[in-house]
Amino acid sequence: MTSINPDTLIRPEIRALSAYRVPPATGLIKLDAMENPHAWPGELQVAWQQRLDGVQLNRYPDPTGTALKARLRQVMAIPDSMDVLLGNGSDELIQLVAMAVAMPGRTVVAPEPSFVMYRMIATFVGMDYIGVPLNASDFSLDRAAMLEAIERHKPALVFLAYPNNPTGNLFDADAMQDIIQATPGLVVVDEAYFTFAGQSFIGKLAEYDNLLLMRTVSKQGLAGLRLGYLVGSEQWLNEIDKLRLPYNINVLTQLSVEFALEHHAVLDAQAQSICAERERLLAELQQWSGITAYPSATNFILLRTPEGQAERLFAALLEAGVLIKNLHPVGGLLQDCLRVTVGAPEENRAMLGALQDAL
Ligand SMILES: *Cc1c(COP(=O)(O)O)cnc(C)c1O
Repeated sequence: MTSINPDTLIRPEIRALSAYRVPPATGLIKLDAMENPHAWPGELQVAWQQRLDGVQLNRYPDPTGTALKARLRQVMAIPDSMDVLLGNGSDELIQLVAMAVAMPGRTVVAPEPSFVMYRMIATFVGMDYIGVPLNASDFSLDRAAMLEAIERHKPALVFLAYPNNPTGNLFDADAMQDIIQATPGLVVVDEAYFTFAGQSFIGKLAEYDNLLLMRTVSKQGLAGLRLGYLVGSEQWLNEIDKLRLPYNINVLTQLSVEFALEHHAVLDAQAQSICAERERLLAELQQWSGITAYPSATNFILLRTPEGQAERLFAALLEAGVLIKNLHPVGGLLQDCLRVTVGAPEENRAMLGALQDAL
């Protein structure tokens, strides 16, 4: 048997990547991944389990998720003229769209900082990635810089997270429309946090034939099920669908999300209480000296710590049993930054207490 050296076989850009790392969280208050902290009421839990009783695990799932799509269309008010494509999380949809347009020399453009998977997946599929810095003062879109990058690189794909992760803000809708118009390729507006933001580009789909809208049920409280959906015109989704692996949405996910959407009032009420809690947290943090807490249209808050303190504060919180996200290692505009997910009131109190002690 010959021995094959990974250094010569694996593509250099893959060897240069570090894997997406999820830190262990056992026993910790988990405020690092934008999960909904609330469980379902007992009777809903029981009704869900009864629904699952009928499921046939020996059969493949519905290949296109017909019933789930119909329910999504109804609950999310998806226009009849638009198609829907389901993904194993929106991460899979980002990958499918990228695979559909990837060719050597083609470019993905996104603002920076934004969702890390845009850059990673561009690399996976062999595309060039251009990150265009947001305005440093308020993380708004630098419209001129974005338009210049689009003019220069003629991107096949642009991602705009609305609202943006990890900054939490909604970009200016006019600037976004200028970008959509100027882009020679597809623009994916990623509305992972739509349930907290109350703003959407869904009504703009018919206006721009290069616009696709992406959402996920993860941040709504169903992160464990892995379901994202892409909305757009048939001419694009028919092509992207060809790259989807058969049966990408398993039976338990199809049934469970359908069930949850039948009871979406429960999820909506949870989102409302998370937003109220976010505002309480922000009001408190904005009174502290040293910490800058940025406004948020999501279920997380970006914090800027005093210079050089982010690592120490992150470690102190961890020591106190609270896991948040340390963004300082990312660098750039995120130097000295931490991100906290809005948890249940008692979790937030624990986080605030530990942060105050450490400061
Ligand atoms: C969390 C997140 C996603 C990923 O969602 P999944 O459906 O869980 O894969 C996509 N985009 C943004 C901006 C996110 O914050």
